[in-house]
Amino acid sequence: MDKPAILGGAPIFKDPIPIMRPTLPAYDELESDLRTVLSSGMLSNVNRYVAQFEREAEAYLGVKHAIAVSSCTSGLILAMKAMGLTGGVVLPSFTFSATGHALVWNGLEPVFADCDRATHQLDPERAAESITEDTSAILGAHMFGSPCDVEALTALARSRGLAMVFDAAHAFGAKIGGRPVGSFGDVEVFSLSPTKVLVSAEGGMVATGDDELARKVRIGRDYGNPGNYNCEFAGLNARMSELHAVLGLHSLRHLDENVAARNRLVARYKKNLSGVEGIAYQEHLPGTLSTFKDFSLIVDESRMGVGRDEFAKALAADGIGSRPYFDPPLHRQDAYAQYRAQAEARLPETRYVAEHALSIPLFSHMSEQDVDAVSEAIGRIAAHGEAVGAAARDS
Ligand SMILES: *Cc1c(COP(=O)(O)O)cnc(C)c1O
Repeated sequence: MDKPAILGGAPIFKDPIPIMRPTLPAYDELESDLRTVLSSGMLSNVNRYVAQFEREAEAYLGVKHAIAVSSCTSGLILAMKAMGLTGGVVLPSFTFSATGHALVWNGLEPVFADCDRATHQLDPERAAESITEDTSAILGAHMFGSPCDVEALTALARSRGLAMVFDAAHAFGAKIGGRPVGSFGDVEVFSLSPTKVLVSAEGGMVATGDDELARKVRIGRDYGNPGNYNCEFAGLNARMSELHAVLGLHSLRHLDENVAARNRLVARYKKNLSGVEGIAYQEHLPGTLSTFKDFSLIVDESRMGVGRDEFAKALAADGIGSRPYFDPPLHRQDAYAQYRAQAEARLPETRYVAEHALSIPLFSHMSEQDVDAVSEAIGRIAAHGEAVGAAARDS
């Protein structure tokens, strides 16, 4: 077998392949709706494409209320504000920073609980141990688009009288026993930003069956204004524009085919890589469908002879983008420095996953040939593990 590029072989990708690309509807499909928005001059806060996007999202998700917002971050902030949460909220540390930031912006205390090593998801037993008298909610996340253990987490929240919120940023299109993610807990919040599977350029969607929560999020995205400019509370400008809604609406119509494509490509990756020592994958809970927002590997240095960061350098030499999602995890970020000391000892699995996980290229319109080429590069690197490790450390 050829040598990997980091050891002097010819790079597999002469034009580098990025870790992700947004998959967008064809321009022809969008053109007439975009022209309608631009020619009408009605760009935001009107009852047209945003409302249509919300109705189609409600139908897709099987929820009573879908409320389009400017981002998942603003949606999480508004949802938790609307719920009037107080004190502490239990959440994973192995997630994207915005999960925690939404708490901090509400003056809530993040209480980090460990994840499960195999699924990378918030571990319900560790979450249970983290609950105190001061806790008002559990904030779960569907990691990389794979549904977390909603049944156990929701049962825990209900039994302790806590609110149950899901950061569903990765998971528009995910399913649990055929039922779409979005209808679990008290509220779930999606992201529609360009790195996610369903894209509106920037945007988010708050999904809930709770009428009062929905009402508050609707006015909260409009400064807290119930319609008469006598604001009920200090809200945000977190509206979605009509242009973003056109993109989101059309993207939603392609969502299932895009999720299916990602699942097929992941199956192909796993088949290609089945003989490679030292790679493990995120495990999925039975009966769930992941969106594969990311395809994440666990790189086991003891078996491959090369650590995660050196492996990533070797991929880069072969023209392949990758990213250590999520390292550092929240409790190791400067923004959460005050929680680090007490969290560190309680989060051994978070530490393991954060130090070994690497997301590799996957997007909905990625070709099978590119999956095969990335797989070939990984095979070459793994076959020369020790030498690659040494070369990467020297570079
Ligand atoms: C991307 C992401 C967010 C933030 O979404 P925005 O729409 O960019 O605000 C929140 N949580 C998780 C887990 C994410 O990956």
